[in-house]
Amino acid sequence: MRTKVVAGNWKMNKTAAETRALVAEIRAALGDAGGKAEVVVCPPFTNLQVAAEALKGSKIALGAQNMHWKDAGAFTGEISAAMLRDLGVSHVIIGHSERRQYFAETDATVNEKVKAALAAGLVPIVCVGETLAEREAGKMEAVVTGQVKAGLAGICGCSLAGIVIAYEPVWAIGTGKTATEAQAQEVHALIRKTLADCAGADVAAKVRIQYGGSMNAANAAGLLAQRDIDGGLIGGAALKAADFATIVKAAG
Ligand code: PEP
Repeated sequence: MRTKVVAGNWKMNKTAAETRALVAEIRAALGDAGGKAEVVVCPPFTNLQVAAEALKGSKIALGAQNMHWKDAGAFTGEISAAMLRDLGVSHVIIGHSERRQYFAETDATVNEKVKAALAAGLVPIVCVGETLAEREAGKMEAVVTGQVKAGLAGICGCSLAGIVIAYEPVWAIGTGKTATEAQAQEVHALIRKTLADCAGADVAAKVRIQYGGSMNAANAAGLLAQRDIDGGLIGGAALKAADFATIVKAAG
């Protein structure tokens, strides 16, 4: 049995004071005993310290939205895995489609980042997904399997089991258009098969694959009930404590 993992990607939202308030609301909505699911909140870099303080005593984990693959050096504006660890971060989103689209993130940089995150003891949440044009051109399978293989190239089976993959069809992110349960399950099964081909069925069975793309309080239960859907990466709905809590509870 895979423990479901629900992560809130706050993107470029919330000041420090707003972070404190939202964490408090989420804690109140979830109750500190929590459910069975692993819960992660990923505020902007500037609010990680505030969030770490606000999360003290709760089981909610702290995640970052990006990182650089080098330990230190002349990389203006970047943040290393060690810096994240220092603030109490345990998870890091890597290769989000917005970073691929607006910040020239490639499968090669995703691969460097995943390796560096694992080496630092962080859980990488590796995002993959096709655009609408790619889906309509019949390229979904090639795009998604290509991103999985290239993003995880050279990572051995035992490390692979600790990675979280987020399937996020780009056409569903922030658009209100969710993949149907069947569409999402089909791609999740494809990702698991791709992992099995690379690392064996035992490892593939351990990897958690989240769905992301307009998951909300109304559609979460149906998506999370699919055999290969092991959680959610939540954008817009993660900024509303009640909605986020409903999704977490739907995960068990
Ligand atoms: C995301 O950005 O990872 C995401 C899934 O966003 P939304 O839930 O708003 O579609």
